[in-house]
Amino acid sequence: MTTSATITLPTGQTLKIPTGLFIDNKFVPAAKGGTFDTINPSTEEVICCVAEATAEDIDLAVSSSRRAFTTTWGQNVLGTERARLINKLADLMERDQQMLAELEAYDNGKPVRIARDGDIADSIACLRYYAGWADKLTGQTISSTGPTKFNFTREEPIGVCGQIIPWNYPIMMWAWKTGPALATGCTVVMKPSELTPLTALKLCELVQEAGFPAGVLNCVPGLGPVGGAALASHPDVNKIAFTGSTETGRKIMEASAKSNLKKVSLELGGKSPSLVFESADLEKAAAWALMGATYNSGQDCTCGSRVYVQSSVYDKFLSIMKVKVEEYHIGDGFDSKSSAGPLISKAQFDKVNAYIQSGIDEGATPFIYSPKTERRGYFVEPVVFSDVKSDMKIVQEEIFGPVLSVGRFETEAEAIALANDSKYGLGAAVYSSDGGQCIRVSSSIAAGTVWINQYGLLSNQAPFGGYKMSGIGRELGSYALAEYTAVKSVLWNV
Ligand code: NAD
Repeated sequence: MTTSATITLPTGQTLKIPTGLFIDNKFVPAAKGGTFDTINPSTEEVICCVAEATAEDIDLAVSSSRRAFTTTWGQNVLGTERARLINKLADLMERDQQMLAELEAYDNGKPVRIARDGDIADSIACLRYYAGWADKLTGQTISSTGPTKFNFTREEPIGVCGQIIPWNYPIMMWAWKTGPALATGCTVVMKPSELTPLTALKLCELVQEAGFPAGVLNCVPGLGPVGGAALASHPDVNKIAFTGSTETGRKIMEASAKSNLKKVSLELGGKSPSLVFESADLEKAAAWALMGATYNSGQDCTCGSRVYVQSSVYDKFLSIMKVKVEEYHIGDGFDSKSSAGPLISKAQFDKVNAYIQSGIDEGATPFIYSPKTERRGYFVEPVVFSDVKSDMKIVQEEIFGPVLSVGRFETEAEAIALANDSKYGLGAAVYSSDGGQCIRVSSSIAAGTVWINQYGLLSNQAPFGGYKMSGIGRELGSYALAEYTAVKSVLWNV
C-alpha cells in the first residue's frame, strides 16, 4: 500500500495526507499490509484508507520509542531542548491551523470554525503550557534524615507511554496527551481512533518537520481490539493514558494487570448534572445548559446531559430553552452557520436514536423533538426530554449525543442527591445568584470539575478528570506531570 493519499476537501482544495503508520520518523505500511477506511460523517462517503497496525507494528513502534527513551530523549536531553521542540511543534500547528481545522472537519464532522478557534487553538496553547514545564521539573531535599545523610528526590520520566485517544476531539486529545508526556521526557506510541486517524497522522508530519529525534513520537492507527489491545498489554510499555468509554477503560486496566502492571490513567464517560436554582439568571442558565448538552453534538465526556430545575422556575426555564434550541443549527462542518456537526458514525447514530426511543418508551415527555429525516449523514437534532425520572435509561446512561433530560427538585438537599445519583462523576454545574449556595453545592457534588454559572470551559492550567467511574488520574495543569513521572528517592551516606 502507498503511505499517502490526495484528497479533495469540500472547499475544492486538494491536500496530500499521510496514511501510513508513523514509526521512527517515517511513514510505513502496516507489517501485514492491512488497511481500514475512514469515513466523512457528513456524507457517509469513504475519504481514504489508512494503514492498520497489528501486534507486529506495535512491537516495532514500542522498540523505536524505547530506543529513543534510552538514547536521544528521556534523561539524555535537557528540559530546555524538549521545550524548544514542543514550542516548534506548536508554532507549526499555528502556521497550519486552517488546514488542520479543515481536515478535522472533514474526518470528524465538526464545524471548521470550532476546530480552528476552539480545539486547535486550545491544543497549541496546551503544548506551549507544557513546553513551559519541561525545564521546571524539580525534586525535594529532605533534611530530616540528619546532617550526615543527604536525601533528595528526582522526578524522572516514566518511560514509553501508550496513548489511546478517541474520535470526539482528535487533535485536542493528541495535545492533552503528548504535551505532558514529551515535556517530562517520556516517549509516546500514539493510537488515534480508527474513526478519525487523519489529523493525528498530519500532526506527525509536523513532528518530523519540528526535528524531534526518531522514535520520540510514533503513531499507529488501528482498530481498538487489535492494535489498541496490543499496546495496552505490551510488556515494554510503562504507562497507558486512555480517553474513551468506561467499558474500554476497564479492558485497559485488565490488560495492564495481566501484563506488566503498567501505570494507567483513564478519562472515561460521564452523565454530568446541572442544577438550576430559582435565584439563577434563567436566560444565561438555559444558554449554558443547552451549550453543555449539545456542544460537539453531545459527543463530549462532560456533556451536561441531566438538568434539574427548581420547581418554582421549571416551566419558565423550559420555555426559554425552547427558544434557544430553535436558534441552534446542526449542519455540515463546512457550513459557517453550523453550531455543531453530525454524529461520528452509523453506530453512534443508531445508538443515540435508540436512546431517544427508549426515553419515549419509558414515559419521558419529548418536549423538543424532531423525528429523524432521510437526510444523508449522521445528523441528529437536539432533543429535550422533560419530566424525567431517575431510573430511566436516558438519565442513567451515557448517550453521547445531543439529548438533554430535564427534571425538577424542591430543595437544595434534593438537588444534590439527584446530582450524585450516578455511577459517573466527571462534570457538574450550579446556576444560582447566591454565592454561599454555589460554594455549598459545588463542594457536595462528587465530580472532578464543577462549573458555577457557566458550562464546559476548561483551562490548560487546571486539572481535569473524574470521580467514581469517570476515571483515574488527572489531565492538564501541573497535575498531569505526576501521571508521566516516577519519583525516585536518593539517599547518600555522606
Ligand atoms: P472506545 O472507548 O471503544 O474507543 C476509544 C479508543 O479506544 C479508540 O482509539 C479505540 O480504538 C480504542 N479501543 C477500543 N477498544 C480497545 C481495546 N480493547 N483495547 C485498547 N484500545 C481500545 O469508544 P467508541 O467505541 O469509539 O465509542 C463508544 C462509546 O464510548 C461512545 O458512545 C461514548 O459513550 C463513549 N466515548 C467516550 C469518550 C470520552 O471522551 N469519554 C470518547 C469516545 C467515546
